[in-house]
Amino acid sequence: MNPRPHTTPTISCVIPAFNEASNLGAVVPQTLAALQQLSPQAELIVVDDGSTDDTARVMQGLCAAHAQVVHMRLSRNFGKESALTAGLDMARGEVVIQMDADGQHPTSLLPEMLSKWKQGADVVYAVRKAREDQSALQAGLIGLFYKLINWGSHIEIPANAGDFRLMDRQVVNALKAIPERNRFMKGLYAWVGFHSTAIDYEPLPRADGLSKFGMGGSFSLALTGMVAFSTAPLRLLTLGGLLLAAAALGYGGWVVVEYFFWGIKVPGYATLVVGMMFLSGIQLLGLGILAEYVGRIYDEVKRRPSYIVAQCSGQGLPDGQGGC
Ligand code: UDP
Ligand code: MG
Repeated sequence: MNPRPHTTPTISCVIPAFNEASNLGAVVPQTLAALQQLSPQAELIVVDDGSTDDTARVMQGLCAAHAQVVHMRLSRNFGKESALTAGLDMARGEVVIQMDADGQHPTSLLPEMLSKWKQGADVVYAVRKAREDQSALQAGLIGLFYKLINWGSHIEIPANAGDFRLMDRQVVNALKAIPERNRFMKGLYAWVGFHSTAIDYEPLPRADGLSKFGMGGSFSLALTGMVAFSTAPLRLLTLGGLLLAAAALGYGGWVVVEYFFWGIKVPGYATLVVGMMFLSGIQLLGLGILAEYVGRIYDEVKRRPSYIVAQCSGQGLPDGQGGC
């Protein structure tokens, strides 16, 4: 890694926010102050992901009070991954930092992140040490997810690394050039490569409100990631099919041996029924897994944009950027 020749980059901070009106009032000024400590040229982009609460009014006040704040309002809720994509597209800095709107990502980490960038890292990502808001079941499932997704894959998606990260302009440009619609950002970060450095952090408790990702949301995101970055489910299917076929062959052979050597006739229909039900279950599961992949292909070929901007506001925007 080569140290950077010039040391005060322009910085953009991207904050996706969905119904975070109660947090933005405190988080935005605090983050902005931390950014200004790092660079005199900093902008803070709040991507309002179709909020239905008071976010628009709060952001209007913040944009009026701080020239560096930009409010980018999406036309509806597109999800965090799309909101981040929108923010990256809008960001102009040589360095881009992504943070959450709920105050869980400590701004005290920013100087360390920037100093790693100055030492030459292209990506500095923060790895959660512990998450108290997660149950043992959730933690176990997440562990299993990363094992599966990284199984036999040539890129390694680091576990427990979230979207709290600093990226060099080169990395942001690489991410922007990816045309994929089903965006699983944690996978895309790993896919684009570059020199990446991890730093540990302890997430703060959520300032106000509840996490937007319940079991359902996390499961759907995990499925998107799995289908987009791994063929492990397909491989498991092939393996399962092979094993079952081998077992059936073995059992068939055994029945023949039983019949000819000991004259035992195979009794009853129970084996048949159980076997049939088991096999149809496996077949339906197989179809379902295939359908997940086909569905994503369908999504991709439709080529719908991953987000739509309704409006941008902010004093620092170049003229004519109101509609972005
Ligand atoms: N978020 C978003 N769109 C969504 C869901 C969440 O922009 O559809 C934002 C949210 O406002 C927050 C960040 O993503 O700034 C992380 O969300 P949350 O705190 O609910 O997730 P967790 O911390 O539990 O991962
Ligand atoms: Mg949070």
